[in-house]
Amino acid sequence: MSAGRHPDGLLRDAAERFGTPCYVYFADRIADRITALEQAFGGALSLSYAVKSNPNPAVLAWLTGKIGHLDVSSIGEFRLALAAGWDPSKITFTGPGKRDAEIVEAVVGGIGAIVLESLRDAVVADRCAKICGRIQPVLLRISPDRVPRGFGDHMAGRPCPFGVDIEDASEVIARILELSGLHLQGFHIFSGTQCLKADAVVENYGIALSIFEQLCDTHNLTPEMLIMGSGLGVPYHPQDEPVSLAEVALGSRDVLSRFQARDRFRDSRLVLELGRYLVAESGYFVTRVTATKRSRGTRFAICDGGMNNHLPASGHFGMVIRRNYTMHKLDAIGPVEPVDIVGPLCTSIDRLATAVELPRVEEGDLIAIHNSGAYGLTASPLHFISHPVPHEVWVEQGAPSEISRDFGGAAMSGRSDRQELLDAAE
Ligand SMILES: *Cc1c(COP(=O)(O)O)cnc(C)c1O
Repeated sequence: MSAGRHPDGLLRDAAERFGTPCYVYFADRIADRITALEQAFGGALSLSYAVKSNPNPAVLAWLTGKIGHLDVSSIGEFRLALAAGWDPSKITFTGPGKRDAEIVEAVVGGIGAIVLESLRDAVVADRCAKICGRIQPVLLRISPDRVPRGFGDHMAGRPCPFGVDIEDASEVIARILELSGLHLQGFHIFSGTQCLKADAVVENYGIALSIFEQLCDTHNLTPEMLIMGSGLGVPYHPQDEPVSLAEVALGSRDVLSRFQARDRFRDSRLVLELGRYLVAESGYFVTRVTATKRSRGTRFAICDGGMNNHLPASGHFGMVIRRNYTMHKLDAIGPVEPVDIVGPLCTSIDRLATAVELPRVEEGDLIAIHNSGAYGLTASPLHFISHPVPHEVWVEQGAPSEISRDFGGAAMSGRSDRQELLDAAE
């Protein structure tokens, strides 16, 4: 991977101005993804952003007006979205363990729809809606009985805590239709993600659409909203081939248009729900090498941020076999050689790369880990071993600005402590 293809000047600038470790997100890349998705599907699908993939308030605020919907997975995310300026009616709320207080707050807050993951969610939402004197729109999440091969993570056709099994759906739908505090707007299916094979993604859309048809036909429903997970994956590792959006769009064109041509679905809003595909590739995690050493023939670069800051890159976020994320050394110079990249934690599982080939890494160098815009900072055990929380930097039209969040942690100063020490020693 040649350094010239990466925005090293901006990454270095961000690292030096705001300090390391830091996450740096490029707004233009998210904008490009939104445009690409809109062009690919020609308006047949609306987009919904899964807040959990990157809940930074600046990201949420930037997305207002650029995307139709948000999906939150907790009341905390709902609050973040409202604070970022989102209209609650554009928001849906998923999550298998919704607490009563969360459901109450969502209903009172005017949430667009609650995604019911069980009959129990329905009963609680119905009671809340009646107390509030309103009729709460809901979607029922369905767990399909199959998912095509090729999804890095899936939850179909096996026991799972998400949604209602398709086998039981009819019975649950009948019960929900009897609850007068609820209005069943439609269905939700998110059965797998991290797929890089266009044909598998297309097949999975087909499965979702046929379930929507089957359920709506059986219960004679004309749904207002139907949400399906995009399944679209991210090429995290150097050998990964990006999924072709053009192939996905072409492959699903017929099944989508046949579906949307049916009277029953003419006025249904079909929504593609996604997180990583929108934001992962917009972000880099930048960490500085604090020390190098050699042990029994292996060269190590020890960095100021590791698995505590970036759990997915360390391989502890659902990866079966640890593989190196794509990464590069900023302003790379020097002969290429293998190096193990580790973080600052006193545990052997704190490892960001094994035998990655990089131009010789020296103390003070900056390493940028790619595909880090999703499931980065907030998917990591930030407080383990009490290191500073990483900074977050937003780059829009070539201008970096700090968008760090206060996690009430041990955040150290902005610039690298190494530089401060050197300054202080002078
Ligand atoms: C996590 C999640 C998403 C987003 O998944 P990605 O893999 O980031 O696209 C969408 N919908 C639901 C319900 C989720 O739980």
